[in-house]
Amino acid sequence: MSAKIRLYVEQPLGQGQSVPLTREQAHYLFGVMRQSVGAQIALFNGRDGEWLAEVSEAGKRGGVLSCLQQTKPLQLPPDLWFLFAPIKKARTDFIVEKAAEMGAARILPMQTEYTNSERIRQDRLQAHAVEAAEQCGGTFVPEVAELQKLDRVLDSWPQDRQLMFCNEAEVGSALRLAAQEKGQPWAILIGPEGGFSDQERARLTALPFSHVVSLGPRILRADTAAVAALTMWQQALGDWF
Ligand code: SAH
Repeated sequence: MSAKIRLYVEQPLGQGQSVPLTREQAHYLFGVMRQSVGAQIALFNGRDGEWLAEVSEAGKRGGVLSCLQQTKPLQLPPDLWFLFAPIKKARTDFIVEKAAEMGAARILPMQTEYTNSERIRQDRLQAHAVEAAEQCGGTFVPEVAELQKLDRVLDSWPQDRQLMFCNEAEVGSALRLAAQEKGQPWAILIGPEGGFSDQERARLTALPFSHVVSLGPRILRADTAAVAALTMWQQALGDWF
């Protein structure tokens, strides 16, 4: 049995568990999607897998769903952080959505020397990650962190986490991810539209956990580079097969 509508909720899910809806969720399910008592909805909360639930109360400002049975176990993505420098709003939204779909476990917006934006709306970006998980059938939602300075993040970097540094200065070079053991903690780093500064590039190249890679013979826009890098990593080291 499977339901067409998938909804992310924060409450625990389990056998016989009832799940009260927020006003927005009730508006979406009953107002927009025209569901009513008895309708079946798929629920996930990022922790308990996916559950088939039935609408037991439906109102304008709220409602209740009751869990019937688990339809998918929790499926965690690989231990992959995705670091990127926020760009224009719509393109940043795109990057977060794609990173969530492609199976990043954490999404970390970075302020680099040439990052244009000094602020992000973390709550909005997190909502995009939730929406992406709802759409792509995921049972996990990556956390979107607050904007942090790249230098600071590197200062306290966990030494066992490898870093795939996508360096536009290597455009056209043959630098690819060398064969690695799967199942290690990793991160991908994509720069802003202005690229990395010489100083950042020097530091990033010298780090012992850094793997410098080229994304081919063309300079890609940051949003394209994000998808290309995630594809490359997933295929080599991720959960695609
Ligand atoms: N303005 C810069 C390009 C920035 S592209 C310039 O002209 O040099 C934005 C980001 O995408 C880069 O910082 C890098 O992380 C990634 N990127 C784009 N094309 C790439 C390539 N061919 N190889 C490696 N990284 C690339």
